[in-house]
Amino acid sequence: MTHAAEPVAYDVVVIGAGPVGENVADRARAAGLTTAVVESELIGGECSYWACMPSKALLRPVVARADARRVPGLSGAVQGPLDAAAVLAHRDEYASHWKDDGQVAWLDGIGADILRGHGRLTGPKEVTVTAPDGTERRLTARHAVVVCTGSRAVVPGLPGIDEARPWTSREATSAKEVPGRLVVVGGGVVGVEMATVWNALGSDVTMLVRGEGLLPRMEPFAGELVAEALTEAGADIRTGVSATAVRRAGGDGPVTVELDNGESVEADEVLFATGRAPHTDDLGLETVGLEPGSWLTVDDTCRVEGTDWLYAAGDVNHRALLTHQGKYQARIAGDAIAARAQGKQLDTAPWGAHSATADHAAVPQVVFTDPEAASVGLSLAEAEEAGHRVRAVDYDLASVAGAGLYADGYRGRARMVVDLDREVLLGVTFVGPGIGELLHSATMAVAGEIPVARLWHVVPSYPTISEIWLRLLETYRG
Ligand SMILES: Cc1cc2nc3c(=O)[nH]c(=O)nc-3n(C[C@H](O)[C@H](O)[C@H](O)COP(=O)(O)OP(=O)(O)OC[C@H]3O[C@@H](n4cnc5c(N)ncnc54)[C@H](O)[C@@H]3O)c2cc1C
Repeated sequence: MTHAAEPVAYDVVVIGAGPVGENVADRARAAGLTTAVVESELIGGECSYWACMPSKALLRPVVARADARRVPGLSGAVQGPLDAAAVLAHRDEYASHWKDDGQVAWLDGIGADILRGHGRLTGPKEVTVTAPDGTERRLTARHAVVVCTGSRAVVPGLPGIDEARPWTSREATSAKEVPGRLVVVGGGVVGVEMATVWNALGSDVTMLVRGEGLLPRMEPFAGELVAEALTEAGADIRTGVSATAVRRAGGDGPVTVELDNGESVEADEVLFATGRAPHTDDLGLETVGLEPGSWLTVDDTCRVEGTDWLYAAGDVNHRALLTHQGKYQARIAGDAIAARAQGKQLDTAPWGAHSATADHAAVPQVVFTDPEAASVGLSLAEAEEAGHRVRAVDYDLASVAGAGLYADGYRGRARMVVDLDREVLLGVTFVGPGIGELLHSATMAVAGEIPVARLWHVVPSYPTISEIWLRLLETYRG
């Protein structure tokens, strides 16, 4: 191991070049700050190679076929199986064949310096990068170090788990073959999306869910409608069960998952979609008085509490484990760092330019299953728990003209949660085919705090699924 004697100074040092680190670098460079970006794997992060991009490329043909099968005159043409090889090839394209040249070129283009290797804090404003060949380089930051190291899958420490070589989200999004039988442990977003993909590509899928239903963070009807459709598509969903042990026969044979109800399930692969942990265990947090392995708590400028130079954006701060939300934080953190560096006044008023307030009030998320499930803001239960005086307004999407036109036998539901004191929306949930693109209208209403009376003048086109807005408002007004 060789050590660089003199540290190299930058205005900003970013550790982790996922979507969030890239966007922090972009804002810092736009403000003229010199910026180093440290990355230990691929520039582009989890999102580009093992999460959003490959998963959505896999889901698109699945959902498009399901939609087409509900259109009279078209359904007969799409009854056959998906071309699994073509779907996987399309996924490979979207994952850029796990090569990061395109994103390297982009970072080069904005004038950020890329340092390949593992970044570790070695004191206040100091980062040491260990390159793959073991050489070390020390960097110092004049203004800020920004931790954008993301998260990794958590696999429970069950007996036999290591020998069973389970899938995590990485294998589930990058597998080269369709397993004959797949057990999916976990009923959250990753679990339902991956169950949808592999079931449609031909696997016999069994889902093992510890709680009462799927998608526990959303309105209960979201999980119910997705479970109903997955079951109709052939998946076996078992709720109220936990895996207690895993065994793989002969090292290479089928895998058996033991359950706490005494039963067991055999499959060719088992996916654990059982949560995420922060990439902070080997980050040198102890050198700056923080706990290794912890999520980093930040204020609304994404600055780590108790410091004036350390920032954390994206998954690693545990505010909202979503690319778009992390990129939003990156824009805010990058601009806040630049403003502080230049001695400018920060706009941290609620909804101000340097305040990631949407993290608390208006986080949108689309689950790309069939049907799609999408929500922004608070569910009814969350709003009540937070002490708001609210009313939930529900409507059956099947009764909206545009939905009937979109799909024969359309099934879906919508809910808006109205704050009765301020008459603004705190949350909206849509579940149904084709509703993903509708979510942004709800995000505008919630983030914009548009009064319900004003929404009455936001006229949706006829006959689109957006007419759900009219029906929800009519139902509210009575
Ligand atoms: C299967 C799946 C599907 C998903 N689908 C969606 C979706 O459709 N839409 C959506 O919004 N979100 C989705 N997400 C979530 C999304 O992937 C994450 O929110 C997003 O990747 C977070 O970005 P990030 O930059 O914070 O972290 P990451 O993308 O995890 O990037 C962190 C980077 O830091 C690097 N790194 C870590 N430690 C170090 C170190 N010490 N030194 C140097 N480099 C380091 C890593 O190698 C990595 O490249 C999905 C997640 C999964 C698992």
